[in-house]
Amino acid sequence: MDGWNRLTAHELVDRMNRRECSSEEVVRSVLDAIQSKDGPIHGYLSVDPEDALAQARAADTARRNGVSGRLMGVPVAVKDVLNVRGQSCTCASRILKGYTAPYDATAIARLRAEGAIFLGRTNMDEFAMGSTTENSAYGVTRNPWDLGRVPGGSSGGSAAVVAADEAIVAIGTDTGGSIRQPASFCGCVGLKPTYGRVSRYGLTAYASSLDQIGPMAKDVRDAALLFEIMSGHDPMDSSSLPEAVPAAGDLLVPDLKGIRLGLPAEYFVSGMDADVERCVRHAVQQCKDLGAEIVEVSLPHTRAAIATYYIIATAEASANLARFDGVRYGTRATGANEPIELYKRTRAEGFGPEVKRRIILGTYVLSSGYYDAYYVTAQKVRSLIREDFGKAFSQCDAILAPVSPTAAYQIGEKSEDPLQMYLGDIFTVPVNLAGICGLSVPCGFTGAGLPVGLQVIGPALGEMIVLKAGAAFEKVSCAAGRRPGLM
Ligand code: GLN
Repeated sequence: MDGWNRLTAHELVDRMNRRECSSEEVVRSVLDAIQSKDGPIHGYLSVDPEDALAQARAADTARRNGVSGRLMGVPVAVKDVLNVRGQSCTCASRILKGYTAPYDATAIARLRAEGAIFLGRTNMDEFAMGSTTENSAYGVTRNPWDLGRVPGGSSGGSAAVVAADEAIVAIGTDTGGSIRQPASFCGCVGLKPTYGRVSRYGLTAYASSLDQIGPMAKDVRDAALLFEIMSGHDPMDSSSLPEAVPAAGDLLVPDLKGIRLGLPAEYFVSGMDADVERCVRHAVQQCKDLGAEIVEVSLPHTRAAIATYYIIATAEASANLARFDGVRYGTRATGANEPIELYKRTRAEGFGPEVKRRIILGTYVLSSGYYDAYYVTAQKVRSLIREDFGKAFSQCDAILAPVSPTAAYQIGEKSEDPLQMYLGDIFTVPVNLAGICGLSVPCGFTGAGLPVGLQVIGPALGEMIVLKAGAAFEKVSCAAGRRPGLM
């Protein structure tokens, strides 16, 4: 059989275990897909075919020698913000050009321990700041469903390569929606775990109180598998949670009987694209048909979420990005005669306009005189948003919502208007502010044939509820398993 690249990780592991194919054949089929399709899509920043094939052969040998692993021989694409030992890690920024990661991030080490292969680095918005992947210093990624449109962001490369079968699974990060929104725009599955579930050791920080690593996949089962492998306490990340990780194996729920799903009134607002609303409402009806009880809930502080997020995220970013000074990592500006000049030149040349905007905004909201008015107020509102979810989850097990108010839009359509871009994050940032979990699962298509995602939001540590609900819904979703009619 040809076309191993079109299968899921769990299907491939089964087949490789039955010796129906080798990891080398799988990796070759993915490399062929990259070769034939990634030119216009540009989902990858770099791919090392020789190294990937060497890893594949090593996995095949290990398997023949009786070594087992839940991802033995499966290639994984990694967003360019996570360290994979010996590979470049640029965060899609000029300032990290030429930087090679000296160690594996904990999430990567855990995948590697299960036999995963790391074949390439995926494009993203610079330092994960953005919603379209247009903010990459190395060129925009295009949506495989319509090459004139954005793939979403900031994990746009990861979403695009999964959707185009240029990858089996991919890893993304989500600070305010960067896994769920591109998954929705590209028609794949994306999970943002509970804050602290996956260690952030080896992840280049954007906003440390919001960042989470998570899987992007072709089905819910693969997302669950990767989630289970990557999660769990890590002494290298003091914010990582001590709670045991539930076994993702048993997602086979026949229906949604006995499950209460909340519908927040504030998430069905005017201004939302009519096609998106139609798809999400249809999905809600399908969940009802599967036996779920649908209850109305309220998240009254939603209207303050964007302002709160863009204060907290930029404040944290301004502190985190101070480390890129031209001395310790990546590129260094030439021609400076003294240290301050070196920092200034390196940062002026190295950071793109959106990153600079965020550093300036973040520095402003933290500056004396404004700190109380902006930063402290935002922290208080964050508590209110968290309390909103707490109240809602006393009435339901999970919440159904759109992922984004629109489907994928045209490249360039919002890039000149940062505020418009920020407003598109309205349905995803509250989940990060509350530290809870959220899944995006394909639920339909717009009239123009663009994918739309359904968001299933769960309480802290509620990943199994959202994964189960997502898996049950996926079985009836008209969008599950659909691929762009590419080339
Ligand atoms: N679009 C949001 C931002 O620009 C979220 C990004 C993310 O989750 N990394 O900050």
